[in-house]
Amino acid sequence: MFFADRMLGKLAKKLRLLGFDTAYASDMDEEDILEFCKETNRVLITRDRGLLRKAVERGVRCYYVSSDDWREQLMELSKKMDLKNSRRMSRCSLCNVELVKASEDEIKMKVPLYVQQTQDEFYSCPACGRVYWAGSHVEHAEALFRRLGL
Ligand SMILES: [Zn+2]
Repeated sequence: MFFADRMLGKLAKKLRLLGFDTAYASDMDEEDILEFCKETNRVLITRDRGLLRKAVERGVRCYYVSSDDWREQLMELSKKMDLKNSRRMSRCSLCNVELVKASEDEIKMKVPLYVQQTQDEFYSCPACGRVYWAGSHVEHAEALFRRLGL
């Protein structure tokens, strides 16, 4: 769905927490980024006007954000597209991989006991093994999204 340019690492993580497929690579050059976006039909999100211009010339869909703060970047994006109807907490914020139900073993090994006792839904990332649940960072992110009106 999206490709966030190298200046937008934080925004990429938040978009993933919102459930959007967001690719991010800090080490790709402009040509590769444009080619990749075209091949995978991704919308490029960038703060780089030069890259924006090239994307437009190549027919790559593109959103420009001007702020250097990810909260304001999310607000800018929400004016261009609907960020509300997403499948939240369905994607690993680090790997951009879809989460699956965590196994009993994973829960036992990776989730603190007090969390196991108070939560009943756990998801894990097939790529990095990180376990997600409704408390912790997920709730923190939800609160932020609410404050931003998302
Ligand atoms: Zn992961």
